[in-house]
Parts: sequence; structure tokens; C-alpha cells
Amino acid sequence: MESTLRRTWAEINLDSLIYNYKKIREKTGPDVRFLGVVKADAYGHGAIMVAKALEENGADYLAVSSMDEAMELRLHDIKMPILILGHTPKDQVERLIDFNITQAVTCKAKAVEYSEEASRLNKTLKIHIKVDTGMSRLGYLCDGDFFENGVLGILEAINMPGLEAEGIFTHFAVSDEPGDKCRAYTEHQFKLFTDVINHVEEMSGKKFRLKHCANTGAVSEYPKTYLDMVRPGLLLYGYGEFAKKMGLKPVMSLKTNISTIKTYPAGTAISYGGIFVTDSTTRVGVLPYGYADGFFRSLSNKCSLMTSAGPAKQLGKICMDMCMIDVSNMQGVTVGSEIEIFGEKNPIETLSDIAGTIPYELTCAVSKRVPRSYIKDGKVIEKELLLRL
Ligand SMILES: *Cc1c(COP(=O)(O)O)cnc(C)c1O
Repeated sequence: MESTLRRTWAEINLDSLIYNYKKIREKTGPDVRFLGVVKADAYGHGAIMVAKALEENGADYLAVSSMDEAMELRLHDIKMPILILGHTPKDQVERLIDFNITQAVTCKAKAVEYSEEASRLNKTLKIHIKVDTGMSRLGYLCDGDFFENGVLGILEAINMPGLEAEGIFTHFAVSDEPGDKCRAYTEHQFKLFTDVINHVEEMSGKKFRLKHCANTGAVSEYPKTYLDMVRPGLLLYGYGEFAKKMGLKPVMSLKTNISTIKTYPAGTAISYGGIFVTDSTTRVGVLPYGYADGFFRSLSNKCSLMTSAGPAKQLGKICMDMCMIDVSNMQGVTVGSEIEIFGEKNPIETLSDIAGTIPYELTCAVSKRVPRSYIKDGKVIEKELLLRL
């Protein structure tokens, strides 16, 4: 069943996505491959459609966070290589191999598990070695005193039966932060990463085909980190300061309609808790958009949403399914008028700043009951609802 798109919906502009993709490739040049990060349902944009668009336009690789996310793409006919960045239990090794999914290997214990399982099956699992150069999350710890041990651990893994080490990667912790300290930290991470690679390649006599580390901040600010492949997420979706600097376009526009308008006298308390009380006659619009759609309740009474007549202040507590806005002195704004929550007219960064967070969290929070409407060549090509109808 098709969504009615009559409540709140997200327009996913695939033309903007491909525009951003091409701009990034222009910047990184013809010799650098492109891995599109499509974890978390492509940051809320819809992984299947985003992956299809990237595949059609010649991207080289995709990355997801889990087996389920990888399988969603394979079951929807995405053929290009997929890397799982997070952990996959060893009982899934056969599926990884059979569906040609590449697995990150982050430590000795996982390498042993995967190797044993692949050998038992008489098959080969494609892996990318993850190096921890300072993110302190996943990966072979290689900094300072851990260098030698880290290098030996990686050497051991790439020689294990049943594993084919196609690539090696690391992740930057502060490449998107300003200042000399963050620059020095990122430079150190990069140098450590290349030192590890050089040692491993020298000692093993083998070369990694794909060395990669450049996330959004690095693609924008650290061209020397591109190596064989870049790995941006946010930049591809067109948000944040680096996207702005490169002239990229926001891919998602989250929209809703005014369902009801009422005019209240001064002294009227609006919504739960009565935290907002009108100080004069106020024309209030009700929107079918609330925290169950991904509107942070912590933004209550603190932000504005965009009408055709300019920004309208959000009034009172945000409810589960609704919120209220002030449309006084906006006579052109009536029941049925379209409101942009964030998008081309109301930058997502304004909302994420007020919420004390980053744009990533807002696009990921757009919930499954918000249908995605995909636009290609200026036309809606598909409407997708994630509810179980
Ligand atoms: C999420 C993620 C990325 C993409 O990060 P952006 O900041 O969105 O560019 C790249 N690499 C890894 C390992 C990640 O987890």
C-alpha cells in the first residue's frame, strides 16, 4: 500500500545526492575511489534508494553498520561491494561470504573466530583490517607502546587461513573539529596509520588494495588522507559546515501541513504543562508532527519552523504526534499550508544547534512512520513507508 503523504513526509532529493557525490569526486580526483556510508538507513534518507543512486553513478563501495543493514541492500539487488563497519557474530560468516559482504576485523579474537569459521566452510571471507589510531573505539590498538603488538596482530590476521585482507582502514576522531590541537591529533592519527601500513606491508610482502580513512572532515580539510578511497557520510547528504563550504545541497527536506488553525485570546496556555501562555491574541497552527516522528521534545518552545511567510515560532511542549506554531500575522498561511521543518529553506544546522546536537542525529531520528518521497530528475519516483501495512 502506498503512503498518502498527507501528514508529515521527508523528500529525499536524489538529484542533490548525485550532485554532492559528483562534487566530492571532482574534489578527490580520478584516482581515488568512493565509498558511500549508508549505515543507519543512509542517515535516515533510505539506504536502498541512496545505494541504488550511488551504484548507478559508479560509486565503488558502500558501508553499513551491521549484517541486517547489509542484507537489506543485497535483498534489494544492490550488487556493489559492501563493508560492515561493526561487529558480526561468527555464526554469520557463511552468509557474509555467500552474499559477498566484506567484514571489518578489529582485533585478534574476531580474526581467529572468522578464520576458523571460514576455514571450516572451506571458503574465503573478504576483510578490511581496522586500526585504532586514536578514536579509541574499534580496531587494533597501535599508538605509542602498542605499535609493535598492533602490527604483529595485523600481520597474524592477514595470514590466517580463510581470510583475504582486501583493505585496511582507520577512523578520525576530530577531523571535523577546528583548531591546531585537532589538526595535530588528526595528523598524528594519519601518520600512525601510514606507519602501520608500511610496516605490515614490508613485513608481509603483501599490499593492501584499499587503504582508506577520510571521513567528511578529512575529505574537506585533509586531502593527503584520501589514499585509495574516501569514506564520507554526512558530506554526501549535504549537511554541516564542510558541505556548505563545497556548495553541496541538503538531500532531505522534512515537511508537514497545518492541520488546524485556532485563534486564542491573551492568557491562553498552549499544550501540556502550560509552559507557553499567549500574551496577546495568537493565531495557532497545529502540525501533525511530534516526537514520535523525530521532533526532539527538548526543542519545545525553543525553535521555529518555516512557513511560506517566514519562520513560525513553535509554541509550548512538543507532543507525541503534534506540535503547535504561531502563525499570527501570516494570513497567507492557512489550513493545508506546507511547512518545512528542515531542508532547503530552513537549514537543519539551525535546529541541530538549538538542540545542542549535530545534523546526523536529526536525520537519523526521522522515524519510520514518516514516509520518504524520492525525487529524481525533478520528479517523485517512489514513495516509501516503513510501517508494517
Ligand atoms: C560513520 C562513519 C563514517 C562517515 O562519517 P561522516 O562523518 O558522516 O563522514 C566513516 N567511517 C566510519 C568508520 C564511520 O563509522
